[in-house]
Amino acid sequence: MTEPKPPGKLFLVGLGPGGGEHMTGRAREAITAADTLIGHATYLRLVADLVGDQQVVKSGMTEEVERARLAVELAQAGRTVALISSGDSGVYGMAGLTFEVLFQSGWTPETGFAVEVVPGATALTSCAALVGAPLSHDFCAISLSDLLTPWPVIARRLNAAAAADFVCALYNPKSGRRTRQLQEAQRLFLCHRRPETPVALVHAAFRARQRVELTTLAALAGCEIGMLTTVLIGNSQTQVRHGLLITPRGYTNKYDLAGGTTVAGERAGTSLSSGLDAWLAAIRASTEGVEQLAARYQLPARYIAELLDAPDADVRH
Ligand code: SAH
Repeated sequence: MTEPKPPGKLFLVGLGPGGGEHMTGRAREAITAADTLIGHATYLRLVADLVGDQQVVKSGMTEEVERARLAVELAQAGRTVALISSGDSGVYGMAGLTFEVLFQSGWTPETGFAVEVVPGATALTSCAALVGAPLSHDFCAISLSDLLTPWPVIARRLNAAAAADFVCALYNPKSGRRTRQLQEAQRLFLCHRRPETPVALVHAAFRARQRVELTTLAALAGCEIGMLTTVLIGNSQTQVRHGLLITPRGYTNKYDLAGGTTVAGERAGTSLSSGLDAWLAAIRASTEGVEQLAARYQLPARYIAELLDAPDADVRH
């Protein structure tokens, strides 16, 4: 027989970007079901219409550890607590820290009170929605905050993302005291991308002071950017059309979009002629050595060597 769950519940709630219309139904349910709400004052203001007789604990931005500990303590004492983050609670939000505090307290999913992470629309998708479809191909998120992450780690990630042609969302780009990080990010990106690369700055998405600006990588460091801005940097294919940022998904590699037909040499529903199988056949047939192939495709020599050694069946399945 399994032990009954102890009373108490902790909801880790993501509110989405701002106003109520972008909050999920489950986030709303969690906030109304809770008897205790904990969050930064700004987020609690965003859900003011859902606050009835719940106890409300407001705290400042820097008191995150305290907030997580308090939430855990109160849930341990049998309360139903909603710990509130903006966007998604698991994206630079309170969820990760809270699980660390939970595990430190001896909590386990099997023996402890119930914990539910309620997902929300994170800043990058919310901000992208306001400028078109910049994330339609591979993208990544990088926070420029060096409050908890060493700068060389951030710089290496910026460099890798820029080199690999990811569309990039920069969170925490700038604060009152932290202004140089964005200039450094720009400098690193310019080592890999054109100065005209389109960039969108979205400030306070879906909130009263929302502001959207389109600019370029070259002009980025001179723009007005604050704590509530997300910076979206396009990849080498991203285009601006009629004030919208669009990253092509690659359909034109296969289809003639105007005529609806397939491009010569390609078939609908199967990998591209430059897809994995065709590429494998090409490197196997190549007269180049491992090192040359590794340099050509910018892939580790070890990977190329393993591919060339592997029997077909291993590679395919
Ligand atoms: N958990 C949040 C992120 C918190 S980190 C989420 O998932 O969205 C804080 C950073 O998020 C800010 O510095 C800013 O870069 C970004 N951000 C949060 N809300 C935003 C909004 N409404 N508009 C634009 N950027 C936002």
